[in-house]
Amino acid sequence: MRRITITLLPLAAAAMLANGVSVAQEAPRRTITHISGDVYRATNNFHGTVFLVTTDGIVLADPLSTDFAIWLRNELDARFGVPVRYVVYSHHHWDHASGGSIFSDTAEFVGHANMLDHLALPPATTSLRDVVGQYAPVAALDLDGNEIVDRDEARAGDVDGVLFTAFDADGDGLLEGAEVMRGPVSHVVPPEITFTDQHEITLGGKRVQLRWVGEMNHSLDSSMMLFPDDDVMFIVDYVTFGRLPYREMDFELGRFDQWMERIAEAEAIAADFTHIATGHGPVGNRQNIVEWREYLEALSDAVARGIAAGESLEELQATVTMDEYRHWAGHDWVHENVLGMYHFLTD
Ligand SMILES: [Zn+2]
Repeated sequence: MRRITITLLPLAAAAMLANGVSVAQEAPRRTITHISGDVYRATNNFHGTVFLVTTDGIVLADPLSTDFAIWLRNELDARFGVPVRYVVYSHHHWDHASGGSIFSDTAEFVGHANMLDHLALPPATTSLRDVVGQYAPVAALDLDGNEIVDRDEARAGDVDGVLFTAFDADGDGLLEGAEVMRGPVSHVVPPEITFTDQHEITLGGKRVQLRWVGEMNHSLDSSMMLFPDDDVMFIVDYVTFGRLPYREMDFELGRFDQWMERIAEAEAIAADFTHIATGHGPVGNRQNIVEWREYLEALSDAVARGIAAGESLEELQATVTMDEYRHWAGHDWVHENVLGMYHFLTD
């Protein structure tokens, strides 16, 4: 695996892990809003999930976090009085899939079969120096170079509390290479019902259709969730509305062309749905997917033109500013988007 240079200061680790969201100790902003029919959206700061309410119980998508799931369970009990029967995962990433244990007494857990691979620990021989991508800043917290990130080193990088225990798979208070490479997924309940292509759940007379998104950079276990009886589609992270792609766009995982194919497929399926919810940002519609694709095409074209003209990465980062997207959230990630696209196009 190719090594990337770590330019982030350790203190940036936690902010980066929080998906661009400050992890300051403010009270979280949480909402529940109606989307359509019996499908609702719930948000926890900058993360969103959806759920379907039926007389026989609730189908919940991503539980987001343990803290959020505790809040959500109370809200669901008070508002609807039926239990969560299924927790259905969009993908394994900690900031979407954590917290399901709060529903373990009543729910079955459903996800793509590749989730089990993503959640498995890499070999114990994995070195912190092997960690690339979004968790590389955590590996870099091993300042004394003893191949372990201990609690003090982690705390210095704001990898503390729930986040530390999420990395610490064996609970020994030390983060080893395999644990950092796997990511902070210890609070993710693995799916007990898995599928490889499609899966349909019927509850209270309503259908929830799960479809594997397919191979792409972001993860290999992403599923879209369709609520055909309520006209809602839910897609997470590989499409987001009104916000730039997250930082370096997982460029170390390659597969940019496949990502674009997956977006085009989402666009086609979205023609059958009025309401499209994503894991971040407001509920939108098919046109928002079109805009997301157009952003990536414009970015790709601009970076490709610069490369053809012999510009360096630094020159590209100075000239490709995507000003027409200044009104999108995360516009300050544009330099990292350019870096990611540069690697997609040249690696
Ligand atoms: Zn993700």
